[in-house]
Amino acid sequence: MATDLMDRLKILADGAKYDVSCSSSGSSRANSNGGVGSAASTGICHTWTSDGRCVSLLKILMTNACIYDCAYCVNRRSNDTPRVALSPAEVAELTIGFYRRNCIEGLFLSTGVVRSPDYTMELLIQGVRTLREEYCFNGYIHLKLVPGADPLLVQQAGRWADRVSVNLELPTSASLQLLAPDKSRDAVVQPMRQVNRLITINRAERKQSRKVPRFAPAGQSTQLIVGASGESDRQIVILSEQLYQRLDLKRVYYSAFIPVNQDTRLPARPVATLKREHRLYQADWLLRYYGFSADELLDEARPNLDSELDPKTGWALRHIELFPVEINRVSYEELLRVPGVGVLSAQRIIRARRQGHLGLDDLIRLGVVMKRARYFVTARGRSLEATTLDSSSLRSRLIDRTTILKPQQLSLDFSSTADDEIRSLITGEL
Ligand code: SF4
Repeated sequence: MATDLMDRLKILADGAKYDVSCSSSGSSRANSNGGVGSAASTGICHTWTSDGRCVSLLKILMTNACIYDCAYCVNRRSNDTPRVALSPAEVAELTIGFYRRNCIEGLFLSTGVVRSPDYTMELLIQGVRTLREEYCFNGYIHLKLVPGADPLLVQQAGRWADRVSVNLELPTSASLQLLAPDKSRDAVVQPMRQVNRLITINRAERKQSRKVPRFAPAGQSTQLIVGASGESDRQIVILSEQLYQRLDLKRVYYSAFIPVNQDTRLPARPVATLKREHRLYQADWLLRYYGFSADELLDEARPNLDSELDPKTGWALRHIELFPVEINRVSYEELLRVPGVGVLSAQRIIRARRQGHLGLDDLIRLGVVMKRARYFVTARGRSLEATTLDSSSLRSRLIDRTTILKPQQLSLDFSSTADDEIRSLITGEL
């Protein structure tokens, strides 16, 4: 690779690292005759960082030049940094080159805004279109939508990409106005609404005819920066709930604010730690897979997640009168609310109960994290605890002493010896 191209790639990959809204799951684009790559589940590999970030894609910006001046962004126009760009043809060439060398499974393409949202969106589309049409690339593509771009361009983007995303970045209009004054809330939310509408129409049309080209088959996601502005966890979790319910988002990603600029509008010291980000991810899992609502997790009197307890354990301690539950009798929905019982272990328990009554020993085999669950369950009327504990004594026993490590590669060891907390960190099981 030419040195100049290598240098630009380095800068553009570095500029993209603050965007965590990439995940390569959820698409099943098949290979076609003469094509390369496939986004079918077997064709996509994930690697995970310690805080749950997914890295298996070529993740780059098309350019780090930007006409906007978002306070939190390393690429904002007022920063004195070298500006470089790739042409659409170079993006396509690079992606296919890395793919053929087996380095990546797909592409995550974002960008700064040059000239105008429409012009920038056209460049992005040209890059991915070249990849699909000229190189017959059937691998996974996640494409950023530029807020303010013409709806026709949004429509075209979803034609070529598996997943599209617009980053909300900040939870409220007021924060957006303060920290990203060039972007309006409307310009960000409008394409999200449009994508949701087009996905629904496309699904209906494809039921009539499989020949209808797919539109963003892996759906849409977004990212929220946590801690650059003063919103509570409750505001963030309620917003995420609305995004899942109203716009059918696949994922909301949370990114702990990292100070990269000196700016009086930003907190002097980071107020969001990786632990806060981790707790938000846990709350997010409870919304999506465990049947919890935002109101059950947080309220006006308690607007922030407990840094010492995961949100499900916190909920259980506030509803201690509901426990212990008899593992052989409770419903699947009730099982999901037991600390230490994840979605997989709840499903296994339901299946195993059909063969006969379960004992406490069986629960470990079924993947239940007994370190937490022991205080909340009985099996055949037996408990692991001799006496019933009150909430505050239980709290001191259950305090989470897990250290959230700085992002680094974790080994995917899911054997029974893997640490429960690390496994929970990776899988989201609570
Ligand atoms: S639009 Fe804002 S967040 Fe995006 S690259 Fe430009 S300055 Fe950064």
